[in-house]
Amino acid sequence: MTKKMICLFDVDGTLTDARQPIKPSVEKFLLETVKKQFDLAVVGGSDLNKITEQLGGKSVFEKYKYVFAENGLIAFESGKQLSTETIQSVVGEEALQDFINFCLKYISELHLPFKRGTFIEFRSGMINVSPVGRNCTKDERVQFYEYDLEHQIRQKFIQALKKEFPDLALTYSIGGQISFDVFPNGWDKTYCLRHIRGYDEIHFFGDKTTEGGNDYEIYESDLTVGHRVTCPEDTINQLNILMALIKERREREQLQVPMQCA
Ligand SMILES: [Mg+2]
Repeated sequence: MTKKMICLFDVDGTLTDARQPIKPSVEKFLLETVKKQFDLAVVGGSDLNKITEQLGGKSVFEKYKYVFAENGLIAFESGKQLSTETIQSVVGEEALQDFINFCLKYISELHLPFKRGTFIEFRSGMINVSPVGRNCTKDERVQFYEYDLEHQIRQKFIQALKKEFPDLALTYSIGGQISFDVFPNGWDKTYCLRHIRGYDEIHFFGDKTTEGGNDYEIYESDLTVGHRVTCPEDTINQLNILMALIKERREREQLQVPMQCA
């Protein structure tokens, strides 16, 4: 029996460079080669605008069977939006406001080499906290990222939040270069899997697959076959390997058919 398979991709670092649009060569390979064999889906932590911007505007819904923004809290199947939950409905307005206030206070007391704007971004299923502010240029993002590697700004911030709010059932996830995400336990990228139906295998490709990374849970999930990649070019390499393996498997299956009949 030929298995029905779907390839599900993280966006930043997997299909695109961080926050950048997908390269034409990568998209061409996906749409002209991979899509002949598998359905395609994408899951990102960012909001829908950023993901559609990166993946070619409104046509994203024609290119990919499923489009998941905010880990699947914003979900589309064949261009049709699916219903989901919100962070405020689960955490509660009161607790959420205490949490946001604490973040703003903590950021106000942080001294960094520079700060920009938009320190907290509120999304459907998560809060994105950026100590340096999301309105960084590309160069500033890299500068902060390097500063953070040395000084562990995001790690320390998360430790402070865990200490202050031990009873909130929240997960903290460092992804990208300048921020971290906060969401209810279980609302990591595995959330999107509840929307995917009718497949024998879900192949997930992601670049932040180690513990604490935003692809870790879905990469490790029993519901997926995980592929760890280092960049969009590596994603293409691994897709080529996967397609070769599948071809081999199908050829073997075809060989077995006459044997079963005999
Ligand atoms: Mg990524």
